[in-house]
Parts: sequence; C-alpha cells; structure tokens
Amino acid sequence: MERVYNFSAGPSMLPYEVLEQAGKEILNYNGSGMSVMEMSHRSKWFDDIIKEAEADIRELMHIPENYKVMFLQGGGSTQFAMIPLNLMVKGKCDLVNTGQWSKKAMQEAKKFGTVNVVASSEDKVFNYIPALDSSKFDPDADYFYITYNNTIYGTRYTTLPDTGNVPLVADLSSMIMSEDIDITKFGLAFAGAQKNIGPAGVTVVIIREDLLGKAKEDCPTMLNYQIHADAGSLYNTPPCYSIYIAGLVFKWLKKMGGVSVMQKVNEEKAAILYDFLDNSMMFRGTVVPKDRSLMNVPFVTDDDELNAKFIKEATAAGFVNLKGHRTVGGMRASIYNAMPVEGVKALVEFMKKFETENK
Ligand SMILES: *Cc1c(COP(=O)(O)O)cnc(C)c1O
Repeated sequence: MERVYNFSAGPSMLPYEVLEQAGKEILNYNGSGMSVMEMSHRSKWFDDIIKEAEADIRELMHIPENYKVMFLQGGGSTQFAMIPLNLMVKGKCDLVNTGQWSKKAMQEAKKFGTVNVVASSEDKVFNYIPALDSSKFDPDADYFYITYNNTIYGTRYTTLPDTGNVPLVADLSSMIMSEDIDITKFGLAFAGAQKNIGPAGVTVVIIREDLLGKAKEDCPTMLNYQIHADAGSLYNTPPCYSIYIAGLVFKWLKKMGGVSVMQKVNEEKAAILYDFLDNSMMFRGTVVPKDRSLMNVPFVTDDDELNAKFIKEATAAGFVNLKGHRTVGGMRASIYNAMPVEGVKALVEFMKKFETENK
C-alpha cells in the first residue's frame, strides 16, 4: 500500500527521507556490520550518534553552554514527577491549567508539594490560553509550569509569562523545533519525542545547570537529573534506536534550513487549514483565533453523524487519524514538522469536496 497522509497527534509521521535512510542502514550501520538496535551503547558508533544528536539539538535550538541536554526515558509523563522531585525545594509551584497534560502535571506535583493554579481555561473546554495576572504569581515558588502547546485542545502560547527569578518550566512535547523559541527564558523544558522529533521512547530534557543538584534526598536514582547529566545520558542503557532516529530527524531539519525555516512552513500549513475553516459553511475550528496552535488543529461540523461520515470517508481516501480527542469531539489534524505542505493542501481539497457533496 502507498503511504497515507497521517494526521496522528502522536506517535506521528516522520520525514520520508529519515525512514528511507533508517531502512538503508537497518542491517549494517556505517560499516559496523550490525544495526543500531544491536550495538553497545558504549560503542564508538553509538557514542558518535548521541554526541551528534546533542550537538544538533544545541545548534537547532540555540542552546547555550550553561544548559544540559539529556535523553531520558519514561515519556513526557515521567517528567510530571521528575520535575517536582528535582526542583521542589521549598515545596510549591505555580501552574497554568490549559488542559489534560497540565492537569496531569498538576496531579503529580501535588504528591510532592503545593500547586498554585494561577489561571485555567477549563471553563471553555480549554479552547483558549487564559490571561495571566502576575499579582497571582508566587514570587517564592520553586518554579512556574506551563504546557506550551496543548496537543488535545489545539492552543498555544504566543507570549510567555514573566516569572522574574522563578524558573519557567515548559512542556514542549507537541511543539519542540516547530518554531523558534528563546530557550534562555526557561529553567527547564522537555519534550517526548513522538510528536515532533522521533519515535516514542526518548524524552529530551533541557535544564539550566544551576537547577541541578537540588533533588530530594530520597529521589530514585533514575529520576535524578544530576545523575543523567553527569553521565551524558549514559548512566544506564538509553533508548538507543529512538535517539538514532531523532538524530536523523535533526539532520533532516538542518538540511531543511533549521527551525526558523520550518516555522515559516508550519505557519503556511496552519494558515491554509485555518483559512479554509474560517470560510467554510460546514467546518469550523474550535479554538479562539489568537491562541491557535500551529501543530494541532481541532475542528468540527455541527453534526456528530456528519463528523463520523467525514472521518470514515477521509480515512478511505488516505487521510488517517483525523478523529478528535474524546473530550473535544469532531476532528483534529496534527500537522507536525514532517507533514508536507502538499498533505495539508490535499486535506483541504478533500474537505471542500466533502462539503459540496454533503450540503
Ligand atoms: C503526548 C504528550 C505528553 C505525554 O507524553 P508521553 O510520552 O505519552 O508520556 C505530555 N505532554 C504533552 C503536551 C503531550 O502532547
């Protein structure tokens, strides 16, 4: 079968060239006579892979020397516990509740201290980013937590809160490397790979060095950032193959011109889809326009049966994984870096045709 246009929220599509290269190298990586899946994480080959991957992330995201970059396991969700375990010295954090992933981070942090929810958009099924009143910020908090892009609801921050001396901590899982961000605004940022940078199994954590070494006494070794930072992410066997594929994605991104070029492409893709939604008589986006995500585009018709019919016919036509999250309903198109402009154009053409046929 031909490849489909895969609009999955995650794990999501990877660049064709990356898969092709991985295919070529699957039996014999770089003259080693073995697959990256089979080699020691202490081998020279793998050492080069992980070091280059780190160097490429640093280049792509302009990460300065005083930040550590780590490749960890346990997915984005393990960070919800690692962050409080390592950063909650005084026992309190601020958090903005913009959806399910923020809530999960909050629930986990509450096991270790007090969470001050400074704002929430739950009143409108998280279809906007709430305005932040800095008088509600705790200047004495250990950190201030945000979910930069809300994968399920399709919202994203366009301006970051000014948290003064309180480190800003961000979940970048569904937007990392999709647009230029100033990493120095963050004390810690993390992303599970399977949305925008590779296969599931590896989580990238970027942490400012002064935030290391504050873990709780009883923090499990594997959950201690300092351990992984000191060991260059090789304290134990890392997810070698996922790191290798992520490394190929970074090379692909560099070849494409880097994150700022990718951002332009992403803005173009999002505009094609949102313009159509804004002008359609049948489909509409669910998010307040100013807070719309570049990566996850939820949309609906006013009729659940029509939504189901659309998803069924789209799937048959090769536009797959368009079903929305159960809490929003309708549809969601995730258009991460690897989704080409042609994929979004083809989807919009299909939606136009569906609209004409189902008036
Ligand atoms: C997918 C996702 C997660 C969870 O990632 P896992 O790797 O499945 O634990 C966390 N945060 C955001 C914003 C996500 O999109």
